[in-house]
Amino acid sequence: MPNNFKDLKWYSQFFRKCSKCGTCKSAYSYGPPPTNATICPQGEYFKLDSYYGSRSKAFHGHAILENKVDLTDPSIQEDMQKVIFSCTVCGGCQTQCLLDYKPWICDYIEEMRHHLVNRGIGPTKAEKMYQEKVIKDHNPYGETHSSRFNWLKDVKDLKTDGNMVYFAGCTASYRRTEIAKSTASVLSKLGEDWGVMGENEYCCGSPLLRAGLREEPEKLAQHNVDYINDHGFKTIVTACAGCYKVLSKEYEKWWGLKLKAKVMHTSEYLEEKMKKGELKLNNISATVTYHDPCHMGRHMNHYEVDMEGKKQWKGSFIQIDKPGLYETPRNVLKAIPGIKFKEMYRNRDNSFCCGAGGGIKSSFPDVALETAKTRVREAEGVEGVQKIVTPCPFCVTNLGDGAKALGSKMEVVDLIQLVDQALKK
Ligand code: SF4
Ligand code: SF4
Repeated sequence: MPNNFKDLKWYSQFFRKCSKCGTCKSAYSYGPPPTNATICPQGEYFKLDSYYGSRSKAFHGHAILENKVDLTDPSIQEDMQKVIFSCTVCGGCQTQCLLDYKPWICDYIEEMRHHLVNRGIGPTKAEKMYQEKVIKDHNPYGETHSSRFNWLKDVKDLKTDGNMVYFAGCTASYRRTEIAKSTASVLSKLGEDWGVMGENEYCCGSPLLRAGLREEPEKLAQHNVDYINDHGFKTIVTACAGCYKVLSKEYEKWWGLKLKAKVMHTSEYLEEKMKKGELKLNNISATVTYHDPCHMGRHMNHYEVDMEGKKQWKGSFIQIDKPGLYETPRNVLKAIPGIKFKEMYRNRDNSFCCGAGGGIKSSFPDVALETAKTRVREAEGVEGVQKIVTPCPFCVTNLGDGAKALGSKMEVVDLIQLVDQALKK
């Protein structure tokens, strides 16, 4: 099938505009008073921000295209793999950059991975292992395909049709079944006509896409789109940030695959219910903060680019014309009576990644864990906060691991679990 992926040479028209200014090192808040904090988990961990980060990715792209590096040299291969594959592709740098490179940074990093994979320099050993599992069993955990919906055994009157399909995703299906169960509970309590794909739900493809693969995720995408379209669902809800990005944006962007159903993150669905006055919530007394999943926040920013030079010059970045989901989950959280909400210092576009994305949790577990610990410490620094609330099973997992490693009392919960707890029957 034809696709819309671009190669390294195409991206070079943008990454060549990197001015090496270093703005992408920090998250800025223009005050008063003006302040800044680190934003790049990779640079933070390796303590070499000139070598890692998005500007280093631009240097490496130059070097490859101009044959300045010998990619057959094992030491260069090792170095390339570390620089390009130890990035969480969180997009923190992307939100800081102000030049025309900005809209393309995350896509370009993934294209670098694709380029290296094609030349035999990647994926990492750990990525290769989970990729084989996704291709064989349609999930990265190596679980059997038939056990995907074991968590549903207790759900009464389960359907595989209805107006709405709940796309659970691999992490909620196999590792965070409490999140899947809460989502099912919320949909039922709200009287929704919902069903699941059952064994027909395949991994959305995110773990493969993030690692630079192209053909293998396309097969997953085609399967999921065909199934959902053929079964007449009107709405798809997912409680996973990674699935949300892939289903709502990437199937069409990369392969032109159109879902007939409207894709909603559970927080969007809940906000809609809230606006209609259909969300009656009980009191939960807790002081909480919110962690923005990268794939729901800044990865969902829509960038306006003047590709034809009608407003400015060709390829110029104009503005973010549609922001990611920042306010929606906060609105739902704040609607729970008794919740005292406090922001962490780094939030929304300036949020600090949980550390799990981009294949890092498997390939560079130390980077993932240290990043999670940093984020948990940040939450601990907000007076009175007892819980980090986030609407993504993978963020819940990694931040939970961070809290455990620190011996922290900080609880990490998914937004849907809190809503399920608060929702009147
Ligand atoms: S990526 Fe953007 S912010 Fe970073 S050094 Fe290059 S131009 Fe500056
Ligand atoms: S995507 Fe995230 S980890 Fe990767 S270079 Fe940018 S800020 Fe650093």
